[in-house]
Amino acid sequence: MPQIYQYAVAALFIEAVIIFFYFQKRSLPTFQNIIFLIILTVVTMNNITELSAVYMECERSNISVTPLYIVNCLYFTFNVTFGILFAIYNLSAFDIYGKLNKRAISIFKLSLLLPYFIFLVVIWLSWALDGRYTLLFTIDPLNGYQRGSDLWFYGFCAIKAFYILFSFIIIIAHRRHIPKTKRQIIYFFLVTISSTALLQLFNNGLLIESFGMALVTLVYFFFIQKPEEMMDASTETLNHSALQRMLRYNLAVGHKFTCLTIYIDDTVFIANTFGILQLNAFLTDVGTFLKQNFSYANVFSRQQGCFCIILKDADEDTINKTLTILNSRFQGTWIRENVELKLYIRLCIIDCPKDAESPEEIMDIINMISTDERYRQSVVFASEIDLKYRRRTIYIEHCLRNGLTENRFDVFYQPIWSTAEKKLIGAEALIRLKDEQGHFISPEDFIPIAEKTGAILRIGEYVFESVCLALSQINIEEYGIKKIDINLSVAQCMQEILAEQILKIQSIYQIPTSIINLEITETAAAHTPEILLKNMQDLSDAGFELSLDDYGSGYSNMSYMLNLPFKMIKIDKYIVWAAFTDKRAEKALAATIKMIKEIGMTVLAEGVETPEQAEWLTASGCDYLQGFYFSRPIPKKDFLDIMKQNKEN
Ligand code: C2E
Ligand code: MG
Ligand code: MG
Repeated sequence: MPQIYQYAVAALFIEAVIIFFYFQKRSLPTFQNIIFLIILTVVTMNNITELSAVYMECERSNISVTPLYIVNCLYFTFNVTFGILFAIYNLSAFDIYGKLNKRAISIFKLSLLLPYFIFLVVIWLSWALDGRYTLLFTIDPLNGYQRGSDLWFYGFCAIKAFYILFSFIIIIAHRRHIPKTKRQIIYFFLVTISSTALLQLFNNGLLIESFGMALVTLVYFFFIQKPEEMMDASTETLNHSALQRMLRYNLAVGHKFTCLTIYIDDTVFIANTFGILQLNAFLTDVGTFLKQNFSYANVFSRQQGCFCIILKDADEDTINKTLTILNSRFQGTWIRENVELKLYIRLCIIDCPKDAESPEEIMDIINMISTDERYRQSVVFASEIDLKYRRRTIYIEHCLRNGLTENRFDVFYQPIWSTAEKKLIGAEALIRLKDEQGHFISPEDFIPIAEKTGAILRIGEYVFESVCLALSQINIEEYGIKKIDINLSVAQCMQEILAEQILKIQSIYQIPTSIINLEITETAAAHTPEILLKNMQDLSDAGFELSLDDYGSGYSNMSYMLNLPFKMIKIDKYIVWAAFTDKRAEKALAATIKMIKEIGMTVLAEGVETPEQAEWLTASGCDYLQGFYFSRPIPKKDFLDIMKQNKEN
């Protein structure tokens, strides 16, 4: 029968194209990429052995049966290996492994590998038995290649069909997790592979199956493997998503590796001074330098001016050598088109999985090093950073982001005692935030973070509005409560529209300004004297009372006390506590209270925890006391109960 081999030859061209592009782009040694490389090899070898078998068949008269057996056995081996590899590749490329449990993986492994090994034995036994018992095929010295018994031959076809069907069922079962375009490629794979295999099966002599295999591999290479998606176009190093994949893979399989980050400072300055093209040119040079010097490692560009090198199983020596190479190069200058520049770098060494157990943690460390000015021009070992603190900060940031939408903020009230009236006359509104497990996060932890991220502005508004709402529902004066204190943060005080915003909310709820006391810390006063003064003047003119919070804790400066329109000074709890452990601190506190009273302001002492403290502070002339001795900060409804008792007393 004449052989139509042109398709098989065309397939060779396709394979050559894939091989060319595959080795052009540096590929990551991940499981999926390794399997793909094996598939590429198997497809090519399947094609070559098939064409060799056809050629040898034509030259049968000059060739003994052994080479014919070998080449046919190899062909069948590669042919069936292709089937199982593609099934495994599909499982990995569409991340189906990650969705299976251990038992399912074992069942899959067994159902894929068992028939595979049975047929490997059948293929090579066909040669060993040499026609004494016919299995898959025989080589007749006269007539050459002969199809074997129907049972084994169609059994072999059925196994290939099983692998195709296996991929199909798995993909259908997980179709929701697979993007549409990728799903279409899988359908293309199934249709092409099955139709070319069937065409070859029923048209003896038409060698088209290897063409189908090559075509499918080509499409997978450009649409599923997507080598160009892994490259950073400007520096020609691997990009951020390649880095993510590489980190995830290495951590998942338990490899030990070092992620070395090179962060170039002042890229914005360079771009502004010399232009973005010039900056990119310098970064390309850095990328080239890194690739040339660390050819044994993978070089990634994480973002503009931030490179990462992954060093596998690197010992101290290797790391020191790497650092020396980097330091000595960056001590010199970089020259591009008449511009000579010194690039200042920060280096960070992350020993994985010891220092970080997930790609996200690695990214957090890199972000921290690149944004914190303390790390300029330094070499930082991640093990030296306080990661626990860092993780907590990240978690709090997360809670702050969704706290308002998920209703996890609340306002508590801490009663304030009047020493003259000997009863509760007010309360301080204090924000509370619960994390996702329902545990409270201390405001001392989240307020500074909220100030940095800007979330404090919305939180401030929330607190003010909550208090106004409560005041519009309960007539506190009926219970003898004259004032509610609300804290204003430094960031709020920096806002030119602060006074306007507060007045707007107050007018919506129609709350008399006289029952609200706004607390401002010394730090706020030190930061923005002009804007703050204007805000305070406006608020004071509108009738709000103002007090200076945490007096004595920060940049104590008498001028704030004298120049800003404060009515009350709240003495910081640490100053109060110190007075009860240290004689000199006691004298200083007594003098402070006296001084504040003499300039005509009222004094509140925070952190009163014992009856002795309350007595001493009362005797020293404090007007108001606040502390756990009277009550902790409590929810609104508990505060209402206390107010009722207060009225009865
Ligand atoms: P602060 O304004 O000085 O509030 C007093 C803090 O001292 C409260 O802590 C209160 O629970 C605590 N405290 C009062 N008496 C005692 C005591 O006897 N013993 C002890 N150990 N602590 C006592 P909290 O609620 O944790 O708030 C801490 C800080 O967070 C506040 O200090 C304030 O600066 C800030 N903060 C709280 N709520 C808000 C808010 O709504 N907005 C703004 N901007 N800051 C707030
Ligand atoms: Mg306060
Ligand atoms: Mg305070």
